[in-house]
Amino acid sequence: MHFDCDVLVAGSGAGGLAAAVTARKAGLGVLVAEKEPLFGGTTALSGGWLWIPNHPLQKEIGAADSMQDAATYLLHEAGEKYDAERVDAFLRAGPRMVEFFTRETAVQFDASATFPDYHPQAPGGRPGGRSIVARAFDGRDLGKKLKWLRPPLPELTVFGIMIGSGAELVHFMRWSKSARSALFVARRLLGHGAAQFFHGRGVRLTNGNALAGRLLKSALDAGVELWNRSAVKELVRQGNVVVGAVLERDGHQVRVRARKGVVLACGGFPQEAARRARLFPHAEHFSPAPPGNTGDGLRLAQAAGARLDESLPNAAAWVPVSRVPRGGGAWGLFPHFIDRAKPGVIAVTRKGVRFVNEGNSYHDFVQALLKTGATHAWLVTDHRAIRAYGLGFVKPRPLPLGPHLKSGYLLQGRTIEELARKAEIDAALEDTVARYNENAKMGSDPIFRKGENAYNRFYGDPDIKPNPCVAPLAQPPFYAVRVEIGDLGTYAGILTNGHAQVLDEQKRPIPGLYAAGNDALSIMGGNYPGPGITLGPAMTFGWLAGRHLAGQD
Ligand SMILES: Cc1cc2nc3c(=O)[nH]c(=O)nc-3n(C[C@H](O)[C@H](O)[C@H](O)COP(=O)(O)OP(=O)(O)OC[C@H]3O[C@@H](n4cnc5c(N)ncnc54)[C@H](O)[C@@H]3O)c2cc1C
Repeated sequence: MHFDCDVLVAGSGAGGLAAAVTARKAGLGVLVAEKEPLFGGTTALSGGWLWIPNHPLQKEIGAADSMQDAATYLLHEAGEKYDAERVDAFLRAGPRMVEFFTRETAVQFDASATFPDYHPQAPGGRPGGRSIVARAFDGRDLGKKLKWLRPPLPELTVFGIMIGSGAELVHFMRWSKSARSALFVARRLLGHGAAQFFHGRGVRLTNGNALAGRLLKSALDAGVELWNRSAVKELVRQGNVVVGAVLERDGHQVRVRARKGVVLACGGFPQEAARRARLFPHAEHFSPAPPGNTGDGLRLAQAAGARLDESLPNAAAWVPVSRVPRGGGAWGLFPHFIDRAKPGVIAVTRKGVRFVNEGNSYHDFVQALLKTGATHAWLVTDHRAIRAYGLGFVKPRPLPLGPHLKSGYLLQGRTIEELARKAEIDAALEDTVARYNENAKMGSDPIFRKGENAYNRFYGDPDIKPNPCVAPLAQPPFYAVRVEIGDLGTYAGILTNGHAQVLDEQKRPIPGLYAAGNDALSIMGGNYPGPGITLGPAMTFGWLAGRHLAGQD
């Protein structure tokens, strides 16, 4: 079978759909081939935050920013891996990309004035204002095609409800403290119950599910051709020009001619065991990314003569994850974004010692863990904190702890000593907690300085004074959850230029071949500067690819 189009896009995450919608809006005929039965990739599972310095919504929230400061910050973050051409392209195009999508498509955003850069004290860093999140989306706008969309990670929902990470999350955390929050939560529960009854799933999509849903809606509205169960297997070249690809669609071979070119947006290699084994410093790894992200884009590009860069100090964006039993021996993964920063929560290795400011970013947390040589850690807390904030997949009061204790997800000890024994943590834990508590009573953490930067405090508890991230572990029983090393997506990837064109070994563009999202080498130099640093560039370089394909640079 044959199919003709102007642009073939491999992958239906943020990178792929941004490229597809942009090219289609510019008048090109676009086919998106998605390997999996469902569209949306990791993007649909994500927080849906985009880091876009100088984004157009900054005016609304009164945030001050400058291109120069953003470039200084990225230079500080990426160090010797700083790619001036692509950073410049990203910083210039990011705000225009946001303008384009909000003006011409169903993709809409809300801005946060307070979500800080992850290293807000670094040169050019900001205490907030650079990140935007996909606005909540009514899935019914997709009609019957709502079932085409990859649902969120079950572990990140509450009774199947997707809780938005801004004001909504605050309401859910404070429902027992505020009548307004209690009313909000009651309304959400009722709305979700009705949606389950009528549609068999939640229809109020938030975060990454809203982003993927909005991109899917935009692609459908624009007339992008969307094929699921269609893996791009091989690129077709005439000379060195990429002119199409061979797909495997529902077990059949399809030859696709792409007159203008092919965009690789297969979401990197979080599920490719061999490359992981080669590039990750640790063996035991747990990725929440979907199963189809197996490095196809990198292999396709390399076979077409592309240059890969695997030299970053961190080949992926790390995140601590815990394994949540789903019953019958199966388990899901819970990424620990927030709980580590709460007052009364510490992290220790098997040796019973702390190793990091627990409130730092997930990427920094895992880097510190890797430096100790350990491959897993324990989050340890007391009864007050677990009932107030939950811990990982364990939800705060009034939801019961019993099922988590029974499943083995959560360990409990009447004393720290008993907890250490159950978790097989060295007895040194007792001394660690005693020393931590001594300072924590005054809200201080002289060794790791938890709570001392804006990012730590963003996820702290403002009611705990003087330090919203530090409180003693004083009220028995005590609890522990084991965390492993996971990722949110990979950083190593295909070398590209400021138009998202794939470069060959001599760093010349390969005509007709583009890469966006995690298939392309990250511009963050192996670091994680702020909320949304993968989706921001993914959509921006997708947009740039779409424009370049349409001759609009
Ligand atoms: C829980 C969680 C929260 C996160 N939160 C954020 C956040 O808030 N902000 C942020 O910036 N990042 C976040 N991330 C990371 C972010 O989700 C990813 O970096 C991003 O979605 C990658 O986008 P992509 O377009 O490159 O790939 P994906 O969204 O993964 O899409 C790639 C698609 O390509 C398909 N594919 C693979 N091979 C082929 C092939 N051969 N042919 C056709 N299709 C193929 C895959 O099936 C997949 O659907 C989060 C990640 C997780 C897991």
